[in-house]
Amino acid sequence: MQLDSILIHGGIDGDAATGAVNVPIYQTSTYRQTGLGETPVWEYSRTGNPTRAALEKLLADLEEGSHGQAFASGMAAVTAVLSLFQQGDKLLLSSNVYGGTFRVLDKVFKNFGITYEIIDTTDLSALPEKLTPDVKAVLIESPANPLLTVTDIAAVSRLSHEHGKLVIVDNTFMTPYLQRPLSLGADIVIHSGTKYLGGHSDVISGFVVVKNQTLADRLYFLQNSTGGVLGPFDSFLMLRGIKTLGVRMDRHTANAQAVACWLEGHPAVKQVYYPGLERDPGYAIQQTQASGAGGMISFELHPDYDVRVFFRSLRLVTLAESLGGVESLVCHPATMTHAAIPEEIRKKVGITDGLIRLSVGIESVQDIQSDLGQAIQTAGKAQV
Ligand code: PLP
Repeated sequence: MQLDSILIHGGIDGDAATGAVNVPIYQTSTYRQTGLGETPVWEYSRTGNPTRAALEKLLADLEEGSHGQAFASGMAAVTAVLSLFQQGDKLLLSSNVYGGTFRVLDKVFKNFGITYEIIDTTDLSALPEKLTPDVKAVLIESPANPLLTVTDIAAVSRLSHEHGKLVIVDNTFMTPYLQRPLSLGADIVIHSGTKYLGGHSDVISGFVVVKNQTLADRLYFLQNSTGGVLGPFDSFLMLRGIKTLGVRMDRHTANAQAVACWLEGHPAVKQVYYPGLERDPGYAIQQTQASGAGGMISFELHPDYDVRVFFRSLRLVTLAESLGGVESLVCHPATMTHAAIPEEIRKKVGITDGLIRLSVGIESVQDIQSDLGQAIQTAGKAQV
């Protein structure tokens, strides 16, 4: 099946028990057993649930992996993956990652003796010398949150595998509709399903997908042991959301491309970060490894525009954490999504106090532009 059909019919299509076209919400914590010592198919819903299982199979199909797992949040998925490592292990982290991923490494896993180093994974020449024996994995986002820097996933996978390291890719910004890291060579894919996969800003979820039985067995053990599973109703919402992923991503990408070009030509705008713009440093690699640049844009206004007034003046575009919903959302990474990253690291990696991150929704692009335009104009006047 083509990806557009897998979105609708992939995983477990409908319900074999009743013929229901949609997978029912199996809202149960446990299952009747027929007798002692007989291993039931379904035992307890932390261990397995049919609604969640259908979703997990769907994610595996979409990411061209062999096993998928659904978690109660993106961070629960990140936590399960980081639990693969032990005291003395080190992870290399690409310089722009979601602030929460940095925080859980820095404030939780560091306490258990797992260390990290932030590196520029866009610079392939610098990577081999970083792959020291204590390094066990390289964790990347591409395009990364929030500066949309593009890392060559196939090249990082090749170099890392030559040194026996795992490659973990957070594919939240792209979704499997635009990019499939396992097929590019990565070992583990992570998602915040809260974003484009769910797509309607109404559910928190996370995923891990792998293509290897050993990793799948260990991750399954960790999921069942630590327990951060996705509930049946939220699994149903995710199944429902994913059916329209293709049409939504096409529209998000088209709208973002138009908004990025418009921002680039706007006299108030100092810098636009979007890998769909030809002059963007990530453009060429993005073209080879993904089938679109996605719906996320970051930009900076010239210093004589008041960012606070800009945010306050928006009417249609909503100031909120999160991204990937049908509605346009905007945020200030330095004080919101990336506030957990110390200021000196933020400055070093380019997350300035003037940076604005925009999740371009699927509303009319004219309305999005006109709302941004009037807020920029008000922000300019405020400074005069
Ligand atoms: N990964 C990325 C790229 C994200 O943007 C986020 C959340 O913003 C997460 C992971 C964490 O996901 P969640 O908020 O679902 O826990």
